[in-house]
Amino acid sequence: MGVFDHAEFDNHESLHCFHDDSTGLRTIISVHSTALGPAAGGCRRWTYTNDADALTDALRLSRGMTYKNAVAGLKFGGGKAVILANDHAPKSGELFAAFGRAVDSLGGRYITAEDVGCTVDDMRYVREQTEFVSGLPHAEGVAGGDPSPWTALGCLQGIEAAASAKLGADSLKGLRVAVQGVGHVGAGLCHLLHEAGAELVVSDVSRENLQAISAKLPVTVVPPKDLLFADVDILSPCALGNILTSTTIPRIRAKIIAGAANNQLATVADGALLAKRGILYAPDYVINAGGIISVAGEYYHTSSEDQVRDDVGRIKDRLKLIFDEASDTGRPTNEIADELARNLVAAARKD
Ligand code: NAD
Repeated sequence: MGVFDHAEFDNHESLHCFHDDSTGLRTIISVHSTALGPAAGGCRRWTYTNDADALTDALRLSRGMTYKNAVAGLKFGGGKAVILANDHAPKSGELFAAFGRAVDSLGGRYITAEDVGCTVDDMRYVREQTEFVSGLPHAEGVAGGDPSPWTALGCLQGIEAAASAKLGADSLKGLRVAVQGVGHVGAGLCHLLHEAGAELVVSDVSRENLQAISAKLPVTVVPPKDLLFADVDILSPCALGNILTSTTIPRIRAKIIAGAANNQLATVADGALLAKRGILYAPDYVINAGGIISVAGEYYHTSSEDQVRDDVGRIKDRLKLIFDEASDTGRPTNEIADELARNLVAAARKD
């Protein structure tokens, strides 16, 4: 398994592999850039087919965090941790404590928080071992806690901006939205979309999560294999990445793709494919920055909850600028966002 010649290496500053014998913990912490501040990004716990897939995920996710944090104007670089889930390393407080020691050993180069497969409770065990963690339980009115409601709010507002730009719609009333994955962010987003008058089509591979959302909201459930191709106005990916490919894009019927999942595009070129098909794509790391905005406010003790709400509200303004530039120039939205992010990081390196 190559590292420096890996297709996703992209000049990462450092890569760290940890193993803890007593808990079976295996984790990769990937530090893409510290140009704008400590590398920050959540911890994903997932069952990977093999180590190579875990490495690829860590590399792609940490670069995405560099871009996300830069465009959101945060004093954070980009990093990510993946924990390789397996039967020999069951989820436990001890496992997350061991992960916390791994994070601590990096001396603040990497700041962690929860992502897929991790919860606020898990982060409490991390906190026992290191101060370099966010997304912890918090007092009322102060930034902190589970970042996913903020991610969902930013996504809702981003979807509204996309509906205005692409469909000329001044509200989501009556628009059909397909949400892929009704976990932390997806379920929260469904509630917000329902309140905004949208009709919901959903899928999930977790029966439990599907039952939970179906019990609370009027949703049409479709099998996971059909969700991307549903007859809807808007597709909102809120599960995992690599779903927009040269195979899936030709079959997508939605006019807008706007959701929380990281790394939705399999390749940069897939953004151009979407643009060619006239599908407006909200760059994932721009629209899903709500959670990391809350994490930053918590970590730096700078934000009240109201301040986080205001900052999350600026996501839609950034998207509007990207949509306008795409409309004026014909360039794909992902390329416009990537260029913006790279310029911000390059400027910070020169300072
Ligand atoms: P989560 O684990 O709570 O939810 C993910 C859901 O997707 C689960 O219910 C899972 O069963 C489902 N899923 C997995 N594969 C699926 C498939 N093929 N089809 C349908 N459903 C599937 O995770 P989350 O925190 O809600 O995050 C969702 C996505 O948003 C991830 O890509 C994450 O990296 C990204 N994201 C999350 C946050 C946050 O604040 N939590 C912030 C930014 C980005």
